[in-house]
Amino acid sequence: MLNIVLFGPPGSGKGTQSSRIAQKYKLVHLSTGELFREECRKGTVVGKVLGRYMEQGALVPDNIVLKQLYKTAIRFIHSPGIIFDGFPRTLVQAQVFDKILEKKKNPLNLVICMVVEEKELIRRMIGRSEDSGRKDDNRETIEKRVEVYHKQTKPLIHYYHNQGKLFRVSGMAPVETVTGRIAKVVDTFIQHRCLWKKVV
Ligand code: AMP
Repeated sequence: MLNIVLFGPPGSGKGTQSSRIAQKYKLVHLSTGELFREECRKGTVVGKVLGRYMEQGALVPDNIVLKQLYKTAIRFIHSPGIIFDGFPRTLVQAQVFDKILEKKKNPLNLVICMVVEEKELIRRMIGRSEDSGRKDDNRETIEKRVEVYHKQTKPLIHYYHNQGKLFRVSGMAPVETVTGRIAKVVDTFIQHRCLWKKVV
């Protein structure tokens, strides 16, 4: 099984790239944002709670995120792999995630961090706000989401760097070029893993 986290600030292209990479490597694309928006659309009790946080551009509390994620991810335990988009976003999420994967003997393999200049992030999100239909795609909430990223999510770069799993990819290029860059990281990992299996 191949477990990848596509990491980066809001507007860095995680959704688009996760979907393209999932298709290329036959992985399940698991976006917590999408999962939560679907719950909001269904109007469930948990959906209403999620909506309150999301509309403010705040993070959903860790216990709710982890419960929702686990419920969904467990269904894909026998898939070729999962690409996690928008998860984890806090240190607690990352630590619990590691423990769960360790128990399942299915470690996280790669964390690919999308690097995009801040001005470009805001430009992209404002640009997509008319078509996205997302309540959190307005200037005020966008700025809040970027701020939340810096405070609560960015520290994970250090966490994964220390685990030797972090690979940075510039997202400042056309979509296909960025997909190519990510695919190069994934291919290199797969090649090394095959070689390693042959040796041991
Ligand atoms: P996204 O679609 O990834 O931009 O996520 C949209 C919103 O969903 C975020 O601004 C958060 O409010 C919420 N969300 C998604 N994933 C997480 C997560 N892992 N932890 C906390 N909140 C999340």
